[in-house]
Amino acid sequence: MDMLTCSKDRMEDKIRIFSKFGDTGKGGITRLSLSTADLDAREEFCKRCIALGMDIKTDDMANIYATVPGEESLPAIIMGSHIDSVKQGGNYDGILGVLTALEAAETIVIEKVAHKHPITVVVWTNEEGARFDPAMMSSGVITGKFNKDIMLASKDREGFTFKEALEASGYMGEVENRMTAEKYRAFVEVHVEQGPILENEEKDIGILEGVCGMVNYEFSFIGQADHAGTTPMKYRKDALYAAVKVIQYIHDELDKLDSKLVYTTGRMIVSPNIHTVIPDNVKFTLDARHQDPNVMKEVVEIIKKVPSEIEKCETSYEELWSRKTVQFYPKFVDYVEENAKQYGYSAMKMYSGPGHDAQFITDIIPTTMIFVPSENGHSHCEKEFTPLDNCLKGANVLLQTILDIDKN
Ligand SMILES: [Zn+2]
Repeated sequence: MDMLTCSKDRMEDKIRIFSKFGDTGKGGITRLSLSTADLDAREEFCKRCIALGMDIKTDDMANIYATVPGEESLPAIIMGSHIDSVKQGGNYDGILGVLTALEAAETIVIEKVAHKHPITVVVWTNEEGARFDPAMMSSGVITGKFNKDIMLASKDREGFTFKEALEASGYMGEVENRMTAEKYRAFVEVHVEQGPILENEEKDIGILEGVCGMVNYEFSFIGQADHAGTTPMKYRKDALYAAVKVIQYIHDELDKLDSKLVYTTGRMIVSPNIHTVIPDNVKFTLDARHQDPNVMKEVVEIIKKVPSEIEKCETSYEELWSRKTVQFYPKFVDYVEENAKQYGYSAMKMYSGPGHDAQFITDIIPTTMIFVPSENGHSHCEKEFTPLDNCLKGANVLLQTILDIDKN
């Protein structure tokens, strides 16, 4: 049986055209949420949806819902991602989820594919949190994770609030248009992997089972600032030296746990940070992620064993935030697996390390995700790249998965 496929030419055209919005001229884009570049990309998206006869609605967080009507009045099946990027980001993170969804919808319209449910392509506002903190802001608001008033007050570097940007955007719609469990049946998001596993394993498709749980801790060390030239070593209370010992301990211990565990010290603050002064105040963060809650528990146990005094410095730690492992809807995970097989694509099951809008949506309606490879694992940078063939494969698996959900 010949399987229905999306169009490679149209997929190529979409990626090429959308890479103009926020083009840095160096292979990437800067398309911060609700910036001119973002609004230009939204306009192009809406223009293309209207040309396909889709009905467009926006909600109070400027999320865009473009819908192909169904043959029956049923809740809609929804697919998509985000259009915004980080500063000097790439042409695939987020936008590929929107463009594969648009291509799947376009294929359904052009090929006149029968479907009972309405099919909606969604653009979630401010996923990156690069202009307005936090990330996944709008999917978070509509799923009740974030307080809307606090989000509206979030400011960018120029002092503009999210509320001001929202009002000026022309995309602020009604609360009634939000995605709800009554109006929507399922959500599927295609995303680039943003890591090197699929490429190294030579797989076309990542079958997502969920999103890894994570913890984020901050460790603090208080020592004594003294002169670097006059204080003998044995009298020192060097907070940086104490911090280094804890980092080493954490690495030694965490490396004994499962090899899928990833952990990072990405931020360190050293005071007074002067080359002739012994540091008296040091803080660093620890981000750790794994899909198995038991492994995450072991991570926390290891953290708890850090003593309150190291190298004569006062040591403490606190959890900044954490997230539980998210499991996607098993039936949809099976559809993705089966469809990758039907198309003859190589695939593997995996969990996402990064957070995505889908992890919030899954609390409201059955959800899953499909990953495609990132060349050399690069993401959130201008080098971010996914070959066209892989983008098309992601679109095809998405298309068929949406049609399976429609039938069953
Ligand atoms: Zn993304």
